Amino acid sequence: MKYRTLLLFGAPGAGKGTQGKILGTVPNFYHCACGEVFRNLTTDNELGRTFIEYSSRGQLVPDEPTVRLWRQNIEANTQMGRFNPERDTLVLDGIPRNIGQAEMLADTLDVLAAFKLTCADKAKLVERLQRRALRENRLDDANLEVIRDRLELYERETKPVLDFYGPKLVHVIDATQKPVVVLRNILDIIAEI
Ligand code: ADP
Repeated sequence: MKYRTLLLFGAPGAGKGTQGKILGTVPNFYHCACGEVFRNLTTDNELGRTFIEYSSRGQLVPDEPTVRLWRQNIEANTQMGRFNPERDTLVLDGIPRNIGQAEMLADTLDVLAAFKLTCADKAKLVERLQRRALRENRLDDANLEVIRDRLELYERETKPVLDFYGPKLVHVIDATQKPVVVLRNILDIIAEI
């Protein structure tokens, strides 16, 4: 059985996490942010150390351990009753992040829609990330060079994933609007599915 899934895409700082968290509070939706799953690992865990190594440089953790960790996390949350695949729609943020991951997850995800949160103003994204670095103590947001690398990586590797799912599933949302308006745009589309 495949998971009914909504995907959130957007450059770092576009607001995927903000929207994902809100959507996850709606009954019958379950939010999973891949970056959070990684951040919850401790450094006595080998993958936890690998995560620090890659994320501090603004790079992606290799696909195979990423997808394995993500599957383990979803299965554990299913067992604990937080996610019920029969009843709930999964809201994914931060995965799949490249074509390789999209292919690895093709047998697992029934993608109902993909939301592309766009923000053409790079300076605004950088400013949001720098604010978040202070608030959430995020290593990968603290350094301007790392931020630039992550924005570039999104353009190069993550944006092409939208073509993988095709134009029928992709909805473009203007992420420079107020969070509540972005939310309304997303909810309008979800309500129609
Ligand atoms: P952001 O959306 O701001 O880039 P995330 O919290 O989604 O932040 O991700 C933080 C870091 O975690 C990434 O830069 C990357 O190193 C790692 N990461 C998260 N998701 C994935 C993924 N699907 N594949 C590989 N690495 C990932």
